Amino acid sequence: MEMTLVIIKPDGLKKSLTGNILTRLSETKLEIVGAKVVRVSKELASEHYRALKDKPFFADLVKYIMGEYHTKRVFALVYAGKDAIKKVREICGATNPEEADSVSIRGAYGRITTKGVYENVIHASANTEDAEREIKLWFSPEEIVAEAYPAVEAEEKVRRQKWA
Ligand code: UDP
Ligand code: MG
Repeated sequence: MEMTLVIIKPDGLKKSLTGNILTRLSETKLEIVGAKVVRVSKELASEHYRALKDKPFFADLVKYIMGEYHTKRVFALVYAGKDAIKKVREICGATNPEEADSVSIRGAYGRITTKGVYENVIHASANTEDAEREIKLWFSPEEIVAEAYPAVEAEEKVRRQKWA
C-alpha cells in the first residue's frame, strides 16, 4: 500500500475543475483516505516547495499556491493503493504544461504565465520520500483514514474554535 499527496491548486478551483479532476483520478481505482480544503499560509507554501527555494520563480510559486492569483484555497487529498504515486503522476502529466501529454490533467488545463510560473492545476507527490514528507506536512494522523505512518499520542494545549 502506497500513499500520495494530491493538491488541486488554486487555478484548478478557480477554473471549476475539481469534479473533472476527481473523475480523472478515480480511473486509478485508488482510495481517498484524506481530504480537506486548506487556506495555504506562507510557511506551509515555503515548506512544501522548500526544494525549489533557490529558483528564480520561487516567490511567485509561493504566491501561486497561496492563491494570490486565483482563490485563496486548495483542495488537498491523500490517495492510497498499489503504485499510487506513479498512477497519479501519469494522469497529471509532465510538470511543464506545454510538454505534458495533451490528454493529461496538466496538458489539458495548465498554462505558463508571462512571469514563467507553470500554473499546472494539480500537485502530486513525485516519490515515496516526497509523499511521506508532504503527507505529514499537510495532514495530521487523525485526518487520515488509514494506517499511514507511525504516530504517537500527543497532549497539546492548543486554543481551538468551537461552534458558538
Ligand atoms: N514550476 C515552475 N517552473 C519550473 C518548475 C516548476 O513554475 O520551471 C512550478 C510548477 O507549478 C510545479 C512546481 O513548481 O508544479 C513544483 O515543481 P516540481 O519540479 O516539483 O514539479 P512537479 O513535482 O510539480 O511536477
Ligand atoms: Mg515535485
